[in-house]
Formats: sequence, C-alpha cells, structure tokens
Amino acid sequence: MVRNWKVVPHKEVKVTDKYYDEAFKIQVRNMLLLDPDRLLAGFRETAGYIAGMDETERTAFMKGKARYGGAWEDGMIGGHTLGHYIMALAQAIANPALSDEELSKVKERLDYIIDGLYECQKWTMGTESEGYIFGAILPTKEFTDNPEQQFDNVEKGLSNLITEAWVPWYTMHKIMTGLNAAFALAGNDKALEVDNCLTQWIINRQKHWTEDINRTVLSIEYGGMNDCLYELYDINRNLKEAGDKRAFADPEQIKTAAHKFDDEVLFEKIKSGAKNVLNNTHANTTIPKFIGALARYEVDRSQEKYLEYADSFWEMVVKKHTYVTGGNSENEHFGEDSILDAERTHVNNETCNTHNMLKFSRRLFAVTGDKKYLDYAENTLVNAIMASQNHDTGFTTYFQPMATGYQKVFNNLDNNFWCCTGTGYENFTKLQRGIYYTAPGKLLVALYLASEYENENYKVTMDCDLTVSDKVKLTVEPKNAGAIKDDLLLFIPTWVQGKMSVKSGDKCYEAEASDKFIEISAAELEESINASGTAAELEIILPMGITCHNLPDGKDTYAFCYGPYVLSARLGNKKIKETSHGVRVSVAAEKAIDSDELRITTEKTVDDFIKNIDKHLVKRDGSCEFDLNDVSLPLVFTTHFNQYTESYGIYWKYIAG
Ligand SMILES: [Zn+2]
Repeated sequence: MVRNWKVVPHKEVKVTDKYYDEAFKIQVRNMLLLDPDRLLAGFRETAGYIAGMDETERTAFMKGKARYGGAWEDGMIGGHTLGHYIMALAQAIANPALSDEELSKVKERLDYIIDGLYECQKWTMGTESEGYIFGAILPTKEFTDNPEQQFDNVEKGLSNLITEAWVPWYTMHKIMTGLNAAFALAGNDKALEVDNCLTQWIINRQKHWTEDINRTVLSIEYGGMNDCLYELYDINRNLKEAGDKRAFADPEQIKTAAHKFDDEVLFEKIKSGAKNVLNNTHANTTIPKFIGALARYEVDRSQEKYLEYADSFWEMVVKKHTYVTGGNSENEHFGEDSILDAERTHVNNETCNTHNMLKFSRRLFAVTGDKKYLDYAENTLVNAIMASQNHDTGFTTYFQPMATGYQKVFNNLDNNFWCCTGTGYENFTKLQRGIYYTAPGKLLVALYLASEYENENYKVTMDCDLTVSDKVKLTVEPKNAGAIKDDLLLFIPTWVQGKMSVKSGDKCYEAEASDKFIEISAAELEESINASGTAAELEIILPMGITCHNLPDGKDTYAFCYGPYVLSARLGNKKIKETSHGVRVSVAAEKAIDSDELRITTEKTVDDFIKNIDKHLVKRDGSCEFDLNDVSLPLVFTTHFNQYTESYGIYWKYIAG
C-alpha cells in the first residue's frame, strides 16, 4: 500500500461539473456581497481599546461600521466568521474555476481584510496585548479594560457564553487557519507576518499556564488550535530551512505551543475503545482535536501514536455514530454507541462535523493510503456537503434532519453567521479537492467528478455525470512525447455493483470493489497514446444499482442509495416551517408526515422486501427518480443532495404484512 499521498495543489484542478461549478460561483458571489468593514469592525474596536483610543477615534477607526447582527457576530464568538472568510477567499483565489474578473475582486477583498488585521495588530505593538487581534464584543467595562478577558475567563473555567466567554480559542483557531491559508494558498506575505506575531502572543500567554490551567483550557471548546499551530510550524520550518527571512525566529516554539492543545487524556481514552466513551460529548469540539493529533503525526512521522489516536477516533465515529449521508450527531452531540435510529430528530448532522470529518478523512488517506477513508470522503462530499447548500441562493445548512418529514433550513446572507455558515464558505470554495492525489510516480483518481487536472507533463480530463450515466471518459494527454511517467490508479467505489471495468485501447481491466485500485502503468498509457496519436482515452464503467442501509438500532429502518447517491423521498413543500433553536439557529419546525412507518403489501417479511428491492423501488427511465411501490404509502425518491425545496424522508421503518 502506498503511503504518503499528496492531494494535488488547489491550482492544478478545475471542476467542470455544472452543478458543482454553479455551487462554487454562487458561494463566491454571496461572499463578495458582505461588507468587509463590518466583518473587521470588532477587530478594530478591540485594537482601539488596546491602543487607548477615545470613542471618537475608535468610531473613526471602525469607519463608522458595526458588527453584523444575529447574536453570533455581535456576540462573544464575534470574529469567527472572518477566519472562515479569509480561508474561503484564499481557497477561491487558488481555485482555477474562478473567472479573471471574479479573481481580481476576491484578491482585492482578501488583501483589504489582511491589511485591516495588520493595521489592528500594529496598534497593539508595545502594549501588554502585543500581537493580539480579536473581534468579539466587549460587553462590559471589565472587557473594554481588558480585551483579553475571555481568554482569562477560560483559564479560570468560566464559560458562560453571554457574560464570560464563548469559546475564544475556537475563534482563534478559525482566524489562524485563515491566515495560514492566506499565506500558503494566496501568497499573502502580510498574513504570515500577522499570523506569526499572533502566535508570539499565544506563546507568551502560555508561559503562565500551569498543568491545571492547561487542563482547564482544554476543557472548553478550542477548535483545532493544535492543528493550526502544527500547520504554521510546518510553514515556518520550511521557510527557515530555505533560509527565508520571513520565517518565525524559532519554529520549535510554535510546535511546543501546539503540544499544549493536544488533549492527551482524551486521546488515550478514545484509543482504549471503552464503551460509550463519546456519549454526550460535543461532536464539533472533539473532531478537531483529533485532526490536531493527525497534524502532529503529519509534521513528525516518528509520532505513530498520534496517527493511532486519529484512526481510533475516526473508526469510532464512522462505525458507531454515522448516518448514511456521512453525517453525525444529534443536537451537536454524540450519543451512545450505535444508537442512531432512536436519535433521528430535526437537529442531526451539524455541517461543521461533516466538513471536519471530510477534511480529516482526506488527510488520513494521504498519510496511510487506506482506501476506507476515500469511501467515507466520497460519500460525505456527495451526500452531506453537496446536500448542505440551497442551489438557488447558495445559502447553507446548520443541521440536516434525519427524522423523516422535516426539511433543510438555510442561513440568509447577513444575519445568520453560525459556525456552519463559515464552514459553508469553506466547503464550496474547494470543491476540486480530493479528486486527484499524487505519490512519486503515481496519479490516483479518487473521485469520479467532471474535472481537469494539469501538471507540467500532462493533462487529465474527466467527463462524467453519474446522475445520468455510469460511464466515465478519462483522457490523459501528454504535453510532449514520452511525458507520461506516472502510473494511473483508479479508485473502485464500494457501491459498484459487480465489476468496474476500464477500456483503454484494446486493453480491458476489471475489478470488484476491494481495498485495491485498478492500476494502469505509465508504459501502458504511453502505448495507448502512441496508438491514438494524441492521448490515452479510457472508458470507465461503474455499474450502479440500489443498495439498502439499515441502522444498528433499527434493523428494519432503511435508507436507499443509488450508486454514490443517497436517495430521499419527496414530501412536498406544504409543511415548511422554521423555528429558532439554541443561539438563534434556524431549524425545521414541522413534519410533512405523521409517521415514517411503511407497511409492505406484497412480501411476507421485511428481509424479503429488501432482498428484492429492485422489484419495489423502480428507477424511471432517463431520470434519477425512483418509485417505491408495494407499500402502504407509495413514494417518489430522488437524489438527496439536490433536495432543497421540499420536505424529505431518507429513513423509513418497514413493517411486514
Ligand atoms: Zn457548525
């Protein structure tokens, strides 16, 4: 098994699939509609207080703009959106699907934001808060006198989100991850300068952390602070080794700062695999901690233990806490092991969780080469991430209900700055990720999505739309004679029914779903190019059919997939109603149906019905619509990812006789 794959750079892949391309463009359009001065307002206010400006000076510095509303940006978590926003802008800049006109607007926006943060940071120099940038509200005099008050409170274990602290380290993680990307993906040097200066502030703050304080800090959600610091360490280590003067003076200090966010007690607990160990834990607090564990291994391959922690956690989440779409959690929390049917409600599958699990899986694949991570990644991209967007507006979900009869509810442009709104910006600006990976002498196609990949030696073009056909046309075109030095590896999805086949010239390759890849050597590709005169043309067939997926605590509760697509029943748009949940999160309030029980009218047992599902769930010619017959309530199923106007039902309970 090849370890050490690399996901190909953002810039080298362009998604050409129409639906995905539209999803990206509409996201960028929405992001550009936001006012950067309102996103920066909190950062300017904080810097103004640190610098001792009076009210008139502060208002002028804030350009007379206020934070956005909605209880998040104008709450103690304010500023988290800017971190996601920087990340998404940087990704959009690196995404070759962006037009030149959009590219210049996005670049201008990113530069403006980074300049804004740089200016805020300059005002802190020489003060006790040197390097500190933050955007949350400062609700009382205590906070305006000490703009670091939230961090002080966390060190005392105080975390009332209205009066004390609303996960400030989580917000800091978003900001730093954004800055890392602005430098690494968009080449913004100033972002690195701000980032390194902010890191020095972290290193200084950690100096007074006793073991007790450190444990207290780790007990309050902190995102993936370890992850972003390991990433920044790696950036600086590479610069330092190259003799680049932009590097942090001593990158090892950043690594040490990252270690302080490694929750070793939790890591060991998960590795022990104890029963129900995740019960009642907050999913989006926990997942990033393990991405951080993986990051530690990524920057130091001698730390195998941290890869084991990451894999143990991944296995536990995917095997015991995950629905058919790849999503997890109920009301943001994990439940008992393998209790999923009983936890299907209107608030399952927080989008941040699927975003993080997808990122985690791709990185786990890259270091291990284990195909199980690709299977998860494909499924989650198609059925959770793509399913999180309203394709007309570009707005995205917080939760995706697994209880039957509810509908997806989306944010709006400028009043719902939830955590998942921010991950939504990130998700749809990097849709070209995870399609192609490289290793020395190898190119892997890990996802079948219409796209182009180009490096200095050759160009790969993939044409397909699996909602329409099971055929994929793949062309490998060399840029000059003998340019193909890479073997081509093709992912065999688990959903393939029977054998996947590949025709290249007069050669044919076949394989059933397994842990391996179909491999076509560079020499064979060259032969095929020589025969055709221009390019190797491969025709891949991925036979698709219906698969049935029940739940560990719901033997007769089934979801259906067709090929890679989770199907959901169309339940109309008559009972669409929203309500508010948690901190002003919009959620579905009404079910379109009273019961999710379906009585089988033809077969004697549920097992027989499922065994013969092809007779009962029938695909309509030329569409991805399926009629479910022979049940008490005949239903029409369709691909779930693009169900965003109707109530839906993925899981139904089947009853015999
Ligand atoms: Zn979220």
